[in-house]
Amino acid sequence: MIRLKSYVLGTWHDGEGDGSPLHNPTTGAQMATTSTAGIDFAKVMAFGRDQGGPALRAMTFAARGAALKTLSKSLYEMREELIAVSIENGGTTRSDAKFDIDGATATLAAYAGYGKALGDKTFLVDGDGEQLMRSARFYGYHLKMPRPGVAVHINAFNFPSWGMCEKLACAILAGMPVVTKPATSTALLAYKVMERIVETGALPAGALQFICGSAGDMLDHVTAHDVVAFTGGSSTAKTIRSTPAIIEHNVRTNIEADSINATVLGADVERGSELYAGFVRHVVTEMTQKAGQKCTGTRRIFVPAALADGLQSDLIEQLSDIKVGNPATDGVRVGPLATKRQQEDAFAGIEKLKGGGAQVVFGSPKAEAVVDADADKGFFVGPTLLRADDVSDDSAVHAHEVFGPVSTILPYPDDDVAAHRVALGGGGLVCSLYTNDQDRVGAYVQKVGACHGRVLVVNDKTIDSTISPGMVLPSCIHGGPGRAGGGEELGGLRGLDFYSQRVAVQGDRGQLERAFGLR
Ligand code: NAP
Repeated sequence: MIRLKSYVLGTWHDGEGDGSPLHNPTTGAQMATTSTAGIDFAKVMAFGRDQGGPALRAMTFAARGAALKTLSKSLYEMREELIAVSIENGGTTRSDAKFDIDGATATLAAYAGYGKALGDKTFLVDGDGEQLMRSARFYGYHLKMPRPGVAVHINAFNFPSWGMCEKLACAILAGMPVVTKPATSTALLAYKVMERIVETGALPAGALQFICGSAGDMLDHVTAHDVVAFTGGSSTAKTIRSTPAIIEHNVRTNIEADSINATVLGADVERGSELYAGFVRHVVTEMTQKAGQKCTGTRRIFVPAALADGLQSDLIEQLSDIKVGNPATDGVRVGPLATKRQQEDAFAGIEKLKGGGAQVVFGSPKAEAVVDADADKGFFVGPTLLRADDVSDDSAVHAHEVFGPVSTILPYPDDDVAAHRVALGGGGLVCSLYTNDQDRVGAYVQKVGACHGRVLVVNDKTIDSTISPGMVLPSCIHGGPGRAGGGEELGGLRGLDFYSQRVAVQGDRGQLERAFGLR
């Protein structure tokens, strides 16, 4: 049995007691344990603030970027080992594992590149300076300085590698030390990543600490200059937001939570066209990749009413070919969900959608015909397509995220109704529109854009070069308003803002510009 450890105060720490179990979701067998009992979280936070923070702030952006580059390269070198771990503990197929692991190395590399471009500065000047009063000498500048606290990162189970690395890339480049915590159930991959990061010696002591297991009383020790970035379910998000220390010290908090992502097929797109085929391909990818356990996965498929029957049969044709089962077996495209609880939640969620007026038109959630695995032991959920022709605005279809390979077709009569219903998601991470109609693009972005963190628009000319809607790129922001948590991550250098304090500095123009390296 593997025993995972935390990396705190510059050393590996084995928690006390039996700890929490980690399972192989394909077989249901326990494969590891981990515990954080006995960790002194007050000391962990102080170590980050007192040792990691000053060391990172003394480094230039180029040096911080070079450290991130070392991490990216080093993790890439052990890609095969990480893929095997992901398959075993995450229940991911090889392709799904690569999505998580390559996402991590690519994001680290992207932020390494931003660091290199920023060069030998240690903080950022925000925009141009401005004359403040009558004298041309009296001037004001805005700076973005690394916050002198600790960045606490709490991640969800579905991206143990990417989730950890995308957050730490932004914080480290901004100059803030990190205390990162993966979700316990899939922590083995994050643990392996952390082991390698420590081996590289690329980061100064205290710059990155790793909590493997329960958060314990960690959040009771945050103070004024710390930040907390959380990814996970909305009920946990509520608990975190209401932590007394976070309220007491006005600790900056970023929440990435649930999202009922929508995709819309424009009424101008003909069945059988290339754009239509791309739309179908993307819907299937978003339903089945990572067994639907992607916060950006498509949950609602809006289609013009006249095309609904055709789309339904085209999706069913493609979904029928998809094999569910042991993710290590060639040809299997959908592995198990990560935990028994996720499986139970998905079954319950499908019932909720049915209660909200949707009907299952394809799939049997309790996937009996699994390849190379025992359906009674593994945590499998079969791809399930629902359809909701006429549901009320308060239907669960618009409000409940089923975190699995599950999506609902929603036929719409016209663009206004489609946009209205897309917005019923209450704030989402991403919505997409497939159309060649110029007017439709403008109207759609205007109506639903601000209800989302990201909008993907696809036409004939981009269908071969675009990403599928669920892919998150380091150069564009990830996050969304309302239900999605109200947070924002990544977005190139925008990702550093959360870890930076904007400060207006007023004074003699020449003196300030010399101090900031502007002349
Ligand atoms: P979760 O149960 O909310 O757990 C998320 C993280 O919070 C885990 O690391 C968990 O640790 C930790 N946690 C739980 N209770 C805590 C507490 N009281 N104090 C501090 N930390 C605590 O979510 P999940 O099941 O891992 O993830 C699924 C959800 O995440 C889905 O709803 C999905 O939509 C959402 N998600 C959102 C995004 C996004 O970017 N918006 C991305 C991925 C997932 P333990 O595992 O140790 O309990």
